[in-house]
This record gives sequence, C-alpha cells and structure tokens, in this order.
Amino acid sequence: MTRLSVIGTGYLGTTHAACMASLGHEVAAFDVDAERIKALSSGNLPFYEPGLAELLRAGLETGKLKFVTDLSEAMSGSNIHFLCVGTPQADKTGKSDLSQIEQAISSMVHFLKPGDTIVGKSTVPVGTAKTIREFLEINFQSEVKLVWNPEFLREGLAVKDTLHPDRIVLGVKNKEDSKVIEQVYQATIKEGTPVIVTDFATAELVKSAANAFLATKISFINAFSDLCDSVGADITTLADAIGYDSRIGRKFLNAGIGFGGGCLPKDIRSLKSRADELGLSAQFKFLDEVDEINQTRRTKVLQLAIEQLGNISNKQIAILGASFKPNSDDIRDSPALTIATELHKLGAKVKVHDPVAIPAVNRYFPELGTSLTIEEAFEDADLILHLTEWTEYQAIDPIHLRNLVKSPLIIDGRNVLEPASWVSAGWKIIYLGKPSS
Ligand code: NAD
Repeated sequence: MTRLSVIGTGYLGTTHAACMASLGHEVAAFDVDAERIKALSSGNLPFYEPGLAELLRAGLETGKLKFVTDLSEAMSGSNIHFLCVGTPQADKTGKSDLSQIEQAISSMVHFLKPGDTIVGKSTVPVGTAKTIREFLEINFQSEVKLVWNPEFLREGLAVKDTLHPDRIVLGVKNKEDSKVIEQVYQATIKEGTPVIVTDFATAELVKSAANAFLATKISFINAFSDLCDSVGADITTLADAIGYDSRIGRKFLNAGIGFGGGCLPKDIRSLKSRADELGLSAQFKFLDEVDEINQTRRTKVLQLAIEQLGNISNKQIAILGASFKPNSDDIRDSPALTIATELHKLGAKVKVHDPVAIPAVNRYFPELGTSLTIEEAFEDADLILHLTEWTEYQAIDPIHLRNLVKSPLIIDGRNVLEPASWVSAGWKIIYLGKPSS
C-alpha cells in the first residue's frame, strides 16, 4: 500500500482521501481551511454525501487517514500528491479562476522531493497541466512528475464513483509516468475499469467534453419540453421513446428546471471561454445556447407560478428541495434556490424544505423561510413547487397533505410525481413539457 497526500479537502478531496484510505493506502489530507481540517479530524463531515461519513470515521479509527493543517507534514511521508483544490468561475466571461491551483503548487514546491508525482484531479481549462509541467521542469528538471487525472464523480454517488469509476483517465508527458498511479488504483483497475493513458490536453478535454455533452443533453430535452408545451405533447413519453435508441440513451433526458451545482454550469462556461481564447468561438457558440436554455428554465417556473397565482405578493409558497440535486446538500448554483429567491423578491412568503440542505440555506440565504418538516412547509400554502428530485417527495401522501394547504396546487419542476394519486386527492398538478393533470 502507498502513502499519499491530498491537497484540498472539499467535496472532491475529502471523498478521494477517505476512499483511498478505504483501499488501504495511508492518506494525509491538507487544506488551508483550518476549521474544515478540525471538523474532519474529529470525524465530522462538513457536507452531506451518502456513505462518506462512515468511510471518514473508519479511516480515522484505523489511522489510515489523517487531516493536517501543515502542508509539509502532509507531503513529507508521501511521494504521490493529489491536487483537489477548487477551480471556480472567475468572472462573467466564464473563465476559470486558477488561483487555488497556483497557490497550492507554489506552496507545494517547498516540500516536493525528487521522485514525487503530483496528480491533478481538479477540473481545469485545457493547457493548464502543460503549464504546470513546464513550471515543475524549470524547478525540478524531470525529477517531479505530473499526471492529470480528471475526476468524474457525481455528488450523491461520490463514494461509488470514486471506488468504481466508469473509467480512469491519466494525462502524462511520458507513458511510464502513469505507472505509479495505476498502482494506487490497482484494486479498481482489477475490477476491469478501463484506463486511458493519454497526453495532458486530451485528458483535460475528456472532462470538459463529458460535461459539455451532459449539459447539452439536458438543454436539448428542455428545449423540446417547451416545444411540447406549445403543441400539447408529452416530453416524458418523447424522452422514453427516443431513449430506447441505443445511440441516444435515456439518461440525462429528464426535462425540468435544468442543471446547477458547482460543476456543470461553470465547466461549460470555462470551456466556452477557453475555446474563445483559441479562436474557436463559432464552433463552441452552442454552449452559450445550452447555458441560456438552462437559465430560462428557472424563469419559466416563475412565470408559471405568476400565471397560476396572479399577484405573488404575500402568497405562501412551499419549495420542496434546496440542493441542486438529491442526495447532496450542495446548494451551489441551485435552480431551486434561484427560484425561491426570486419569489421572495416578488413578495411571496417562501418556505423551503430539504431533507439535508436546510443548515446551508439558513447560512447562505437567511432571507428565505425554511421548514424542517414537509407538513410545516405545506401548511396554508397557496402553491407547492417540487424542485429537487428527492425520493422523499415522490413518497408524499397527497391525501394527508391536501388538508394542510390553502390551495391544492403543485408545479412539478422535475416531472416525476405520479399524477394519478395527486389528482384523485384533489390536487391540480402542473408539469414542464407535458399536459397538466
Ligand atoms: P470545493 O470548493 O468544495 O473544495 C476546494 C477545497 O480546496 C476547499 O476546501 C479549499 O479550502 C481548498 N483549498 C483552496 N486553496 C487551497 C490550497 N492552496 N491548498 C490546500 N487547499 C486549498 O471544491 P470541490 O467541489 O471539491 O471541487 C474541487 C475540484 O474538483 C474543482 O476543480 C471541481 O471542478 C472538480 N470536481 C468536483 C466535483 C464535485 O462533484 N464536487 C466532481 C468532479 C470534479
């Protein structure tokens, strides 16, 4: 087993560190956020991710996993350093802010030793790895290697995706540089996971292309959802029917309020901005459309709410879901919270419910009302908005909740609630891209 360091303990770094420890490696994880390190060292996960808290505690108990505030301590016992810091959007151009990468590398330089390998996992614009590699060559000749190993985990399924990924992509300058990482991922590779060893630029672009494709698929179906609305067609049946075609596939074809989170939106903007820099604006203009279609989904729900309620002011609106996706408390660029905030600005009395994200909502959106139970959210509501696809909401008993609301009206922003039980309980249910019931 190998000794590893992990630099940056956000969603990606914490998951990676705990999963690598669960495979038997000795992992020392470092972050500049001392509070975060303190929480993690005591076994407290600062965010919600199914199965991760258990791995974290198991790693701490066996001593395979430790969290430190001293970078030299993290790096000294190890030759492999996973770089997992954030790469948020820098500005309106969509460019990536690479300052966390730059700061991490310039701090790591003091503790790198000949024979070390840095493994970049953060999502970066194409060309970044080459720049880092050149910087390392200037400082260490060829003594310190770089591998770019983009991460494809999905929040909510992060543990499974880290331990059993669909593929492992390793961008390298020399083929043999990948061997040391293949050793770290040996258990996964033995399961038959494909390993793609390629150059830096291809590795970086695999990640950008995967996210751009997924975002495009979502906006594609959402554009069709509007078309279905205008002609009275049904987007779910349409998606099922085209999804049977194995060239298309059914996944990522659920029409609704669109995508959000800390990755897809910023990643497609970063790709577009990089393509602009490379003189390929025309070829990648479609990503602006993908982004715009996605943003309009949020406005569409607002318009529907206004159509149904007339004047929004003082209307009581329950919002089901705050996180950008189920099984996560990540509220970064959450469509549900954009909608909740806009309704609040229009004078509505908003009550947000979420199975796990309420502490994050209270912290970052203190202006919004929140409810700890679904019943409390429904009480006296003029309208219910179902905005995040938690299974809890699909299990709601519409008969019981019918008695709590002022008006039995629900907009299903995810198109997953079964119409029969809601309608027979006396509710009007409005979908996006399919006839209301
Ligand atoms: P995050 O913001 O949750 O975590 C980043 C962490 O890095 C923070 O804890 C921050 O304090 C720390 N950090 C910043 N500068 C540092 C430094 N100099 N040294 C050490 N630590 C430092 O971000 P995240 O969601 O974990 O994403 C990290 C990267 O992984 C991004 O590039 C993202 O695009 C990519 N990614 C994320 C996911 C995901 O689902 N979250 C999936 C795939 C790829």
